[in-house]
Amino acid sequence: MVAVMWFRRDLRVEDNTALKHALEEADSLILLFHVNSEQLLNETSKNEAAFFKSVETFRKTLDDRGATLHLSFGNLTDCFTKLKKKFPEWTDIYVNRDENGYGLKRDILADSILYDLGIRTHAFHDHYLHSAHEVKTNTQTSYKVFTPYFNKWKEYSKPSMIKVEFDEKKIVTSSLFKEDKLRFESFIEKHPRMTTIQTGSVAAKECLDTFVENNLQKYDEARDYPSQDATSHLSHYLRTGEISIRTVYDRVSQAEGFQGKETFIKELAWRDFYNMIYTSYPNQKNEAINPEFDYISWDNNEEAFDRWKEGETGFPIVDATMRQLKETGWIHNRLRMITASFLTKDLLIDWRWGERHFQEHLIDYDSANNIGGWQWASSTGADSAPYFRVFNPTTQSERFDKDGLYIKQYVPELREINNKKIHDPSKLSVAEQDSFGVIIGKDYPAPIVSHKDRRKMAIELYELSKEVY
Ligand code: FAD
Repeated sequence: MVAVMWFRRDLRVEDNTALKHALEEADSLILLFHVNSEQLLNETSKNEAAFFKSVETFRKTLDDRGATLHLSFGNLTDCFTKLKKKFPEWTDIYVNRDENGYGLKRDILADSILYDLGIRTHAFHDHYLHSAHEVKTNTQTSYKVFTPYFNKWKEYSKPSMIKVEFDEKKIVTSSLFKEDKLRFESFIEKHPRMTTIQTGSVAAKECLDTFVENNLQKYDEARDYPSQDATSHLSHYLRTGEISIRTVYDRVSQAEGFQGKETFIKELAWRDFYNMIYTSYPNQKNEAINPEFDYISWDNNEEAFDRWKEGETGFPIVDATMRQLKETGWIHNRLRMITASFLTKDLLIDWRWGERHFQEHLIDYDSANNIGGWQWASSTGADSAPYFRVFNPTTQSERFDKDGLYIKQYVPELREINNKKIHDPSKLSVAEQDSFGVIIGKDYPAPIVSHKDRRKMAIELYELSKEVY
């Protein structure tokens, strides 16, 4: 039988469910990656640059093993029709299924194109420890709150790693989409160079090993402090599938005596939780999960939005984060919460604007996690922060970046400040401004808003939305 293995966000050979089945069942296998032009954002997107750097690394890795990853570019109907024409004997396709968002829509469309071409689809769950429909309440409904979900999630046994016997002799190497390959290469050329991440399964595995050896033990107490850099940085690799979630779970759960293990595993459960929530609320990219908060009259000031994006708000912790995002495409979870809260509750800007900005810039962009995170921070989502408990960016900064080390890394204007006012430089006296070489309003902006006033306004806007609803 001639089959296609269609890679999407599972860019690896090891521990790959669909690939294992494809290799076992097919006599001849075509490896495919399709770039869908509909899904593309723009040429400045770090999200795309990082993802396609990973595709390129995967292609090279397969090349080194004597196998070809065929790259197609354009629309799906053309891709599959061309394939069928070249290989009339092609009968089956293997995929790891998406359960929500764009991936689900694409899979539904693909199913119908493939059905018309007479191709059988073999779809597998591979991306999560538990699929969106697996962990249910006792009455078989979906959970809306994380803690009871997690308690049930823990009771289920976790899937084991899968051994893939890669046989390059089965892989079709003839060149199929010559023009598409050239298009792909010129497309990558146009994107920013992602020097900040190492791509590929080997780098992903090294990242996991380094984390377990150096940071898992202290993950519990250190994970909330950005300057300690104690989290795993696995998010990009999990998003591209350069490492499987089973491999991560297996390595961490076998690390005996490591204190931070349970806390880390809980984060992996959040990932499953948000996938389940996105599946239950398919419109959540555009609509608040909690409909009470779909009537907020956002201020949506474009100039304020630009200052947030550029890291010029006059709130150092927010500015450092937004500058890091722009520079590297990755930011710490605590900082994602602070900046998302600041955009919605201090600048009174629609969470959807922020969600789209993160989508464009995060190298680990994952729709379920990003939408879930934004709806959490803006208090519009499932099990989210209560709307009246508004993060104070200055006290968050004092608590989680006590000595201002993180701020100093990304806001050089403030590097000389050696006291607590680094968290709110507008409090520096004129003499202090002189001695630290930073004039507020000239070298570094004065605060864009008064947190105290905006907090009050935000609570009123949320309450008004509840009344309208
Ligand atoms: P670690 O702390 O090492 O965690 C390990 C893994 O657990 C992560 O790689 C991730 O897969 C998962 N995880 C950790 N925290 C969460 C969480 N809160 N929700 C869901 N999964 C989690 N995560 C993304 O992967 N992509 C996104 O686009 C994304 N956008 C976010 C937007 C906002 C506003 C917020 C508040 C959070 C967002 N997160 C997102 C969740 C979290 O911030 C990142 O997963 C984490 O910071 C990635 O760094 P790490 O791999 O070092 O995390």
